[in-house]
Amino acid sequence: MSSLDKYKIQLYNTLSRSKEDFIPQNPDMVTLYSCGQTVYEDIHVGNAKTYVVWDILVRTLKHLDYNVKWVQNFTDVGHLTDDADEGEDKIEKKARLLKKDPMELVDEKIYEYYLSLDAINVKRPDIAPRATGHIVEMIDLIKKLIENKHAYEVDGSIYYDISTFETYGDLAKLDLENLKAGARIGVNEDKRNPGDFALWIKAPQEHIMKYTSPWGKGYPGWHVECSVMSMKYLGETLDIHTGGEDHIAVHHTNEIAQSEGATGKKFANIWMHSAFITLNGEKMSKSLNNFITIAELIEKYGKNVVRFSLSQNHYRTQADFSYKQVESHRKRYYRLIKSYQLGLQEIHRYKDQEFDVDVSLKSLDLFNKAMADDLNIPKAFLQINNAASKIDQFRKNGEFEQMHNFMRTFEIMMDVLGIPIIQLTPRETKNIDMMINLRIQLKSEGKYEDGDNIRDYIQSLGYVVQDLSKTETIWYKEEK
Ligand code: AMP
Ligand code: ZN
Repeated sequence: MSSLDKYKIQLYNTLSRSKEDFIPQNPDMVTLYSCGQTVYEDIHVGNAKTYVVWDILVRTLKHLDYNVKWVQNFTDVGHLTDDADEGEDKIEKKARLLKKDPMELVDEKIYEYYLSLDAINVKRPDIAPRATGHIVEMIDLIKKLIENKHAYEVDGSIYYDISTFETYGDLAKLDLENLKAGARIGVNEDKRNPGDFALWIKAPQEHIMKYTSPWGKGYPGWHVECSVMSMKYLGETLDIHTGGEDHIAVHHTNEIAQSEGATGKKFANIWMHSAFITLNGEKMSKSLNNFITIAELIEKYGKNVVRFSLSQNHYRTQADFSYKQVESHRKRYYRLIKSYQLGLQEIHRYKDQEFDVDVSLKSLDLFNKAMADDLNIPKAFLQINNAASKIDQFRKNGEFEQMHNFMRTFEIMMDVLGIPIIQLTPRETKNIDMMINLRIQLKSEGKYEDGDNIRDYIQSLGYVVQDLSKTETIWYKEEK
């Protein structure tokens, strides 16, 4: 029986505010679009948390036997400092401050994006399109919306008339009466309704990133790029569309109006949103300038601990960032790694023994069920923790075959969550064991200083040495 027959995947759909059975349109290929980074600042912990969630989603789908085509964009034009179509392009503003060409800044930030996300083991999407590469398609979509009477021009800018789209605001359960009264946003004289949003914005003379269009020189509104790039690469109806919860009220609401207004088809079957990471209770954000970069965190704790830390809570649970918490994640990560590595050392020591490696089907089954249940990571972790305890228990009892099975199970589960396991080579085990034994010998002869020197040397190589008794010492490796 394949996993597909076995595990019914349920995902929480923001559209219905409930968990729904996940049924891809084409059972052989799930189409997934994730809103990506606006590339003008370093990646912060909040951004990274969201990308880790989608990485875990893709890994889970693949683990449960689905193929996935995954597109995640880079926003490199049109994201203004203000959601109400006022303000400046975020990239242009930052580039001006740094006295750089906007595209120079974009290239730098994309490079850094991959440095950070590769480091924390986030797989790259199949396609990572950039908005500036899709201006022509954006203009086509806007033309279609004008043709379908959803959009209108005022002096070189094009706006979406939200009153023409019957289900506008359904995703966010927006109160349209409030929108009409202009409660949400400042009133722009050009707009027919205060909630209308820009598809194309006329560029002032000094604006750098501007393009030729049928309506004169301008640049696209932010939301239009995601409609265009998702449909171009994945088709008019997506199986899953994801983003941070900050996108529900404006960005995703507008994407639906654009895509469905152009095609007349349902845009995305399932909308998944990840909850915020906050800092002192406030959303961690580039605009509020209250963020901790991923690079900073990696520098402090190492990339594995950062990945472990970001793979903890349920994706729909908001979490407040604290160093104290990362520190406790660090301890938990190394407790797991220690169990695994102590098991691995035994396998290296008894390498002549033949093991029939299997997995613990029961643990894996419970793990799979937890992940298939809207990525219930906290529940899935119970199985990871349990596997580590079993590794310890079977190791202590000398039941290495059973131990090996749980190690294999542990590896599979950690990989679904994208958490790296620090491995050891047989040679490492042999070398460190030799030094550890020498140290025990020296101590038994009263040569404590020599023993300490050996311990310090082993530790300087990145291993942790722990004495359980006078004659028993264990060791494991930490990330350098
Ligand atoms: P941005 O470049 O600001 O549009 O953000 C890129 C991605 O990170 C989007 O999916 C956002 O929803 C997400 N994001 C931004 N800030 C946070 C946060 N504090 N917590 C979780 N996700 C966030
Ligand atoms: Zn988007």
